[in-house]
Amino acid sequence: MQPAHHFDYIIVGAGSAGCVLADRLTASGRHRVLLLEAGGHDRNIWIHIPLGYGKLFNNPKVNWLYTTEPEPDLGNRKIIQPCGKVLGGSSSINGLLYVRGQPEDYDHWRQLGNAGWGFSDVLPYFRRAENQERGADALHGVGGPLAVSNVSEPHPLCEAFIQATQQAGFPRNDDFNGPTQEGAGYFQLTARKGRRCSTAVGYLRSAWRRPNLAVVTNALATRILFSARRAVGVEYRRETTLQIAYASGEVIVAGGAFHSPQLLQLSGIGPADLLRSFGIPVIADMPGVGAELRDHYQVRMQYRCTEPITMNDVLNRWRHRIGAGLRYVISRKGMLTIGAGYAGAFLRTRPELASPDVQLHFLIFSADTAGAALHPFSGFMTSICQLRPESRGFVRIKSNDPNAPPAIQPRYLSSRSDCETTVAGMKLLRTIMSQPAMRRYIAQELAPGEECCSDTDMLSFARLTGTTVYHPTSTCRMGNDSGAVVDERLRVRGIGGLRIIDGSIMPTLVSGNTNAAVVMIAEKGADLILQDAGTPLALI
Ligand SMILES: Cc1cc2nc3c(=O)[nH]c(=O)nc-3n(C[C@H](O)[C@H](O)[C@H](O)COP(=O)(O)OP(=O)(O)OC[C@H]3O[C@@H](n4cnc5c(N)ncnc54)[C@H](O)[C@@H]3O)c2cc1C
Repeated sequence: MQPAHHFDYIIVGAGSAGCVLADRLTASGRHRVLLLEAGGHDRNIWIHIPLGYGKLFNNPKVNWLYTTEPEPDLGNRKIIQPCGKVLGGSSSINGLLYVRGQPEDYDHWRQLGNAGWGFSDVLPYFRRAENQERGADALHGVGGPLAVSNVSEPHPLCEAFIQATQQAGFPRNDDFNGPTQEGAGYFQLTARKGRRCSTAVGYLRSAWRRPNLAVVTNALATRILFSARRAVGVEYRRETTLQIAYASGEVIVAGGAFHSPQLLQLSGIGPADLLRSFGIPVIADMPGVGAELRDHYQVRMQYRCTEPITMNDVLNRWRHRIGAGLRYVISRKGMLTIGAGYAGAFLRTRPELASPDVQLHFLIFSADTAGAALHPFSGFMTSICQLRPESRGFVRIKSNDPNAPPAIQPRYLSSRSDCETTVAGMKLLRTIMSQPAMRRYIAQELAPGEECCSDTDMLSFARLTGTTVYHPTSTCRMGNDSGAVVDERLRVRGIGGLRIIDGSIMPTLVSGNTNAAVVMIAEKGADLILQDAGTPLALI
């Protein structure tokens, strides 16, 4: 055991949330902060080139590479669960899409009893975080650390998809974070001049040299230390040595939806029976820790394209590949600037719904699975996901060894309404693809294929081929009921000196991609901490 170190705040996890917290808590110079990250530095070049996203799926140096337990409603398949293990966390390996969700999501959080989390409450934090390329308005901010930019250029297939969606009766939407989410359009990306803006790039780099911030990489927090029911420090492993750091203020857990509940359980906060079964002394019996895992589940429909204009055509030919590389270096445009989706749509599967219930990601390439080789022919695909799934699962330790992955069981498609909405979304996509604007580009529907047309067959395809959209949340849910783990100030209920600030605290999954919401949560969480410490707040 190495000698202990003393700080005001210790943050566990330098991910989307952790980097925001490290920056905001050290800005005044009043507080000494330790930031612990299990992964290493973000030096891999593919982290910073948007298209490099595909190269990070299977890289154990930056990715925890988890899989779920066998999923009973998916034919007992184990679903991959990529998750960032590097400075910036999942914001360093994600698909870069900048989507906040619907205002109704946050108003719903407020209605559930979480004061201060309605849309009008959280909007200032979205704006404070943002550096919007299009300029500021009532919904968008400029000058914040998180760069948000347009795709570098339009693409004929995306134009056709957007037009076909309009032909199917939906509006065009040039801003999914604008007054309404509904419609089809291009995504915006968390990128600047063709380079990824993770929270490590946007927030941590400017804080890095502050004398009151210590960042320790390759440091796995193994246990939170308590004095009675107050968190006083963290034990962590760096290489082979166990070290201890003490926090006179607070310990802030920002390990993400898989690791935050895991660390709490390893430290004695969680379902008492589970903890006892691994010989862990119980500090607090909290059944909600690790419960209610929610995630978006996507089904991909694939098409052979009539024209050689897809990414398959570029990346499968070395001359075109070199051309794309040169174009990126010279003008920061072209294929290498593309994130996990180019265009997309938020749609209502039934007109009587108050807001969209499915999201489509339109991709100008095709491959059998995420991160796999592109098809050797011209192809594209579109994924469908239900925005507000009812299916819920759990995260539970399987051992008292902090290095052992937890059991992850999302229970995808375990709710009937999720199955119905997914099939309705697939049918809606077929309607869009049959419109004139899109039809001319489709040589064949490759998957599921025209022979798959009954609801039963479509659901079966969804169960046997679908995968995650990588949006796990809600495993340390905010609320004021007995299943909630943190209160509306993100303090662990009944425990002193301990907060959780990351995607795990979402009371419900937001209707879109989750990074922007996590950054907002961390921005607000930092203010809650500083308010409680009596420190003047950063300007909103
Ligand atoms: C492949 C992929 C694609 C995605 N695409 C998009 C997208 O296009 N748009 C979007 O909005 N969202 C996307 N997401 C989701 C989004 O990135 C996440 O919701 C968000 O980054 C989660 O932030 P977080 O702070 O909760 O956790 P993370 O960012 O995962 O951070 C947790 C950090 O804590 C560290 N850590 C964990 N446990 C410990 C420990 N015990 N000790 C020390 N360190 C620890 C981890 O290594 C990690 O760095 C994607 C996610 C993935 C994985």
